[in-house]
Amino acid sequence: MKQSNLHKYPLIWRKDDFFIKIYCSIPNVATGILLTTSKSAFIIDPGDGILRDLNKDVGPETILHVSDIFISHGHHDHVGGVWSLLTYLSVLRRKAPLTIYFPKGCVEIVSIYKAFKEVYGKEISYQINLKPIDNEKPFSRNSIKIKPFAVDHRELTTDEKSSIQIPSLGFKFFYDGKSICYGGDTAYTENLVKYSKGADLAIIEAGAEDESRTDLHMTIEQASRIGHTAKEYFLVHVPE
Ligand SMILES: [Zn+2]
Repeated sequence: MKQSNLHKYPLIWRKDDFFIKIYCSIPNVATGILLTTSKSAFIIDPGDGILRDLNKDVGPETILHVSDIFISHGHHDHVGGVWSLLTYLSVLRRKAPLTIYFPKGCVEIVSIYKAFKEVYGKEISYQINLKPIDNEKPFSRNSIKIKPFAVDHRELTTDEKSSIQIPSLGFKFFYDGKSICYGGDTAYTENLVKYSKGADLAIIEAGAEDESRTDLHMTIEQASRIGHTAKEYFLVHVPE
């Protein structure tokens, strides 16, 4: 049965000045998330359409304010908008550096960055810092503490008979006594259970097409069970 009525985008959550807007999260199409406080703006998983959505919604000034991009994994529906975003920032003659955090081994981000540098070379108006993450050490950016955590995301082998794990992360964002947990794409994993529990908001994927492929994604039931342990939650990445 079609479940599109359950998940109308954008999804918006706000507590004081801690704000998150999920423009889209549709498997194999796109994800796109904006997280802001009064002092900062982050983009999480800039899939296709993120530039269009941000430009229409918050405009160039906020886009210029984005200091950091967080990538949960390299699948196209999570990174498809990186190229246009990087280009647009240069068109706006951005000066401040931009940092991209991503799971170490995520070949898609490294390849997009290399190609981007090759095409635009010295024209790029700002510095891009790549920060591969290979541990769960927390760090801070603009008064937000970020706790990366390993999740269990896989993709099918070409014969579709088995799956292989890919570099993948979830992120928990702490700000002003509140927290948002985003699990990215993942099968059921204890780490997500641990970091969702007690979060002010948990953003949990429920991308399993059916019960037989829970090695790739979670079912709505699995995801809801985790979501219930947070104060509020959104189910995302639900097949439409
Ligand atoms: Zn994925």
